[in-house]
Amino acid sequence: MGEFDLIKRFFTHPTPKAVLGVGDDCALLQPRPGMHLAISSDMLVSDRHFFADVNPRTLGHKALAVNLSDLAACGATPVAFTLALSLPEADPAWLGPFAEGMLALANAHGCELIGGDTTKGPLNICITVFGEVPQGQALLRSGAKAGDDIYVSGTLGDANVALAHLLRQRREAPDSTQAFIALSPADLSSAMARLEQPTPRVALGIALRGIATAAADISDGLLGDLGHILERSGIGATLDTASAFTLMAAHRTSTQSAQLLASEAMRPVVLRHVLSGGDDYELVFTAPASRAAEVQAAAKAAHTSITRIGQIDARSGLRLTDGNGRPVDNNFQSFDHFA
Ligand code: ADP
Ligand code: MG
Repeated sequence: MGEFDLIKRFFTHPTPKAVLGVGDDCALLQPRPGMHLAISSDMLVSDRHFFADVNPRTLGHKALAVNLSDLAACGATPVAFTLALSLPEADPAWLGPFAEGMLALANAHGCELIGGDTTKGPLNICITVFGEVPQGQALLRSGAKAGDDIYVSGTLGDANVALAHLLRQRREAPDSTQAFIALSPADLSSAMARLEQPTPRVALGIALRGIATAAADISDGLLGDLGHILERSGIGATLDTASAFTLMAAHRTSTQSAQLLASEAMRPVVLRHVLSGGDDYELVFTAPASRAAEVQAAAKAAHTSITRIGQIDARSGLRLTDGNGRPVDNNFQSFDHFA
């Protein structure tokens, strides 16, 4: 199978939204009047972001999901994407499920594959997404104000627990003596789904237009990504670790996992996964306390749970407290490729 057969067979689909899709030197998009184009790229590198033997269907899903998550964080509606792919070989048994996993998510969001590039080389997937958002309504990192509430969507920490399991299985755990959360098989498999097939919170981002003052998606860990909002907004925050704790502990199906997570010994381990584990692709956002009812209505309309985890302060820096407002040491670190 040659390069162009491969593109035709796996990556050429109808693109009714685009003026021109795959096949020419450029694709053409026509933004609707009054709309800004929202553009973002994310690259997934083999052995860096995923194991080379991961299921290609879930890899296809994840490669697009992490990009849609950036559109969600801006409150943008997905329109189209390009796919730059470096592949060790043109293997239809791998490309078929990879393309299916990616296109199933693309179709669910009306996001059209309009072009890309295909080369031979180490497995590497780079996607650029294009979305649209009404002018002046994009959710930015820079709009948080003192007194705003801080919310997180969905659940946090599961993807990072699943990664810890995989690393341990492969004996690549950075420190095998580190405390470890042994979830029940059912809870581990749902955690694995969170790692391998994250759900981009697109509907929530759109519902929060005009309500949220700032937003970011959580790819590198809550504290790090909230830190970006604080820095860009020039303010600080106080975060309640007791409500953060429920982001992981509250949604267990098995009593075995629930009891384990509730134990005093596991508390700091759970918090580490919740506060600094990456790969969740939830949204962290801020909104004025006076608009709390609108925030709840937006979450309901988007069928997405949200949890209030703290408050923006005029004073810079990030402070952690326990459920009674007493200070908790912050010795958590978010992911950084070059740290
Ligand atoms: P060029 O030589 O101008 O860079 P290519 O020969 O690389 O163009 O690609 C031919 C067409 O196929 C272009 O429209 C390009 O956007 C598209 N294309 C290439 N790779 C992919 C891919 N992985 N997914 C979708 N479209 C692709
Ligand atoms: Mg060309």
